[in-house]
Amino acid sequence: MSTYVIANPTTGKIEQEFDELSDGAVAGVLGRSDGAYASWRATTAEERAQSLIRAADAYDARQDELGKLISTEMGKPIKEAVGEVQLAGAIYRWYGEHGPELLKTEVLDPQGSEESLVQTEPIGSLVGVMPWNYPYYQVARFVAPNLMVGNTIILKHARICPGSAEAMSEILHAAGVPEDAYINVFASNDQVADMIADPRVRGISLTGSERAGASVATTAARNLKKSVLELGGSDAFIVLDDGDIEHTATIAARARLSNTGQACNSPKRMIVPNGKFDEFVSTVTQAFESARLGDPTDPSTQVGPLSSITARDGVVQQVKRAVEQGATLHTGGDALEGEGAFMRPAVLTGVTKEMDAYAEEIFGPVAVVYGVDSADEAVELANDVGFGLSGSVWGSDIDRAQQIADQLEVGMAYVNEHGTTLPGLPFGGVKRSGFGRELGRWGMGEFVNVRLRRTS
Ligand code: NDP
Repeated sequence: MSTYVIANPTTGKIEQEFDELSDGAVAGVLGRSDGAYASWRATTAEERAQSLIRAADAYDARQDELGKLISTEMGKPIKEAVGEVQLAGAIYRWYGEHGPELLKTEVLDPQGSEESLVQTEPIGSLVGVMPWNYPYYQVARFVAPNLMVGNTIILKHARICPGSAEAMSEILHAAGVPEDAYINVFASNDQVADMIADPRVRGISLTGSERAGASVATTAARNLKKSVLELGGSDAFIVLDDGDIEHTATIAARARLSNTGQACNSPKRMIVPNGKFDEFVSTVTQAFESARLGDPTDPSTQVGPLSSITARDGVVQQVKRAVEQGATLHTGGDALEGEGAFMRPAVLTGVTKEMDAYAEEIFGPVAVVYGVDSADEAVELANDVGFGLSGSVWGSDIDRAQQIADQLEVGMAYVNEHGTTLPGLPFGGVKRSGFGRELGRWGMGEFVNVRLRRTS
């Protein structure tokens, strides 16, 4: 049986299997990708931009069908799924519209007869390893800027998302990207390692777990290749004492349940003044209990299944372990009986430094709420984890909230919002959340040759 399958997490049924790449085919993929590089980089920036804009049009035109596909593959509630397709389309459009300008040659310090130019050039074939939690968006973040630059792509998607992986490949090819400039592969981890080690591959980008990131980055480093890693997070959501607690708690709950809690930048740790703690916990608990759980293809569903039974069981175990270690469970945390990878959203308090739940990422619908006596204590707690993806501060005194946000050890700090992602804004983290940046002009700067040409 293939390990690339659509295994509907709502029903547990295998809906479709896909052929895996054979070991003998790896060399062919590398040769094709490298061969396509010469001609793809020779196209004009405007031609590549037009392909990206046609791809964006296809995402827009096919949003309902593409949304349904990922609801089936990984259980995303349909409204969020369609929203993700629109975001992926917007990313292709942004690079199509801004790419040619960003690639223009820069003239440095123009004086005298000498001339110094900086050219932004592609570097070759890249491998992308992508996760299941945002099947279109994560791929778009890597693929759009790199096709724009003139690099070619070999894409290995998560095993549970082969249908959306094929749909993306089809969209790009129909939009004018040559078959070999974007190759989707249903490859094993060993095959990916062989590709990274091959001299024809010039770089690797991975979004996923720390374990997967460390593995591919090790292979990349051993072969002196650059890697970009977008890994986990345990974002803090800091509430100050001068805001509307009920309103803020409702937003926190909604954000935490988005994508059934399976987002790297979900507000996994809510940090609240002790004086407002009970009100905050009770509002989040009520919001979690009233969130509508069910079939992700039903537009009224707010929380779907987790991506798989294994993923669900892992999160249920994390909650159970936290309680065994002394945390208080206010609601949920248990697997729903019957078919599908459902669990009831959980609220935990009383998590202390000694417990696993303090430091580990909980990739599911679980809010951990902490009470603190001061903003300084909130910042200290927020920064006291290995991750550094994003964080937010909520309050009505904007200057104060911004000053606190500036103390967060993260790649993205927000005030009175959490996790906003737009095509033109940089995305990425520090510490164990990875390195490198995606989106905006920064996403076009990772796999390029910033080339000086000086003439005197
Ligand atoms: P993984 O990190 O295992 O999967 C992400 C991608 O990496 C998949 O394509 C996977 O392939 C691939 N991969 C895994 N190991 C290797 C390897 N050694 N070499 C090459 N590719 C590899 O995530 P999981 O699905 O196992 O989820 C586990 C945890 O990862 C989550 O609980 C969460 O903490 C974190 N995660 C973070 C994400 C983020 O957005 N930052 C996204 C997804 C997960 P395959 O499917 O074949 O295993």
